[in-house]
Amino acid sequence: MSNDFLSKHGAEALKSAASLSNNGGGNFAKENIWFDWGKKDEHVIRIVGDFVSIRSHWIGESKFGQDVAILNPSAFKGDNKIPMQVACGNWDVETESEDPDGDACPICRLGKNADAMLKKYGKDLVEADKNIFKAIRRKCAVKCNYLFKVIDRENPYLDEEKTKKGYKILRAPDKLLKAILALSDQMKGIGITSPDEGIDITIKKVVSDNTKTDVTYTALAVMDGMKVKQTPLTAEEKEYRDLDLYKFAGKPVDKERFEEELSEENNVKTIYENADMDEGGNAPF
Ligand SMILES: [Zn+2]
Repeated sequence: MSNDFLSKHGAEALKSAASLSNNGGGNFAKENIWFDWGKKDEHVIRIVGDFVSIRSHWIGESKFGQDVAILNPSAFKGDNKIPMQVACGNWDVETESEDPDGDACPICRLGKNADAMLKKYGKDLVEADKNIFKAIRRKCAVKCNYLFKVIDRENPYLDEEKTKKGYKILRAPDKLLKAILALSDQMKGIGITSPDEGIDITIKKVVSDNTKTDVTYTALAVMDGMKVKQTPLTAEEKEYRDLDLYKFAGKPVDKERFEEELSEENNVKTIYENADMDEGGNAPF
C-alpha cells in the first residue's frame, strides 16, 4: 500500500483551503474523544487511515486582536443556544467541495459583505470604523482543519479512570497537515497511516516566543535505532471502536436563528443585510 492517496488527498485539501466544532456529542460526550495537547507541546501518535477536511467558524469572543460581537450575548445562552464554534454551511464535508453560490453560510455572507464595504467605503472611513469592518471580516474567516483518527501513545484512554482505550480525533490545522504530508513524502513506499505498515509519529508544536500566536509544527518518524519503526496495529488496537470522522465535522449554524440574533451594534446587521449605504449620500457611520 503506497502513500499516494494521502499525499494526493492532502494536496487537494490544501489547495482547496488556499483558494478561499468540537461538537462530537451523542455517546461521546462523556469521553475524551478529542486528542488533547494538554500542557505538552510534543506527543507521539499513530495515525490510522485517511483524514477528513472540515471548515468552521469561531463566532464566540475572540482572544486575538479587536473583538466585535456579531451576535447578541443572548445567542449563546439558553436551550436554543448557538454553539461558539460552528461548521461552515458553504462546505460539503463528504464531497469536500464549496457551495458554488456561497449562500448557505450566513457567517461567510457577513464576512464577504464586510470585505466588500471596506473596499467601497474604506477610504472615507475614520480609522476606528475601518477597524470595526476589519474585525468583523477577521471574525467571519473560515478555519480549515483536518480530522485524523489517532492512537495517543501516551494516553490511549478515553476515560479518566483509564479503563477504556480507543481511537481519538486529532484536529489538525493546515501547518500540521503539511508537516504530516512532508513526512509521508519522505517515507516513500511506506503508507505511514496504514493499519499494517504505518508508523508512530512525534508531532511537535512550536510557539513563537515573540508573538505567542505564531505556531509551527513538525512531524517526525519515531526511530528504532537507525530505522523507522513500523507499528502494525495490534489485535487490541484493531478492535478499538471505529470512528466515523464525518460525524465530528460539526453542524452549520441555523440561519434563521443567526439572523434573529444579529447584533444591532457596530452596524453588524446593516452589513449583513448589505443595505445600500449610498442612499441619502451617507454611510451610517
Ligand atoms: Zn461559512
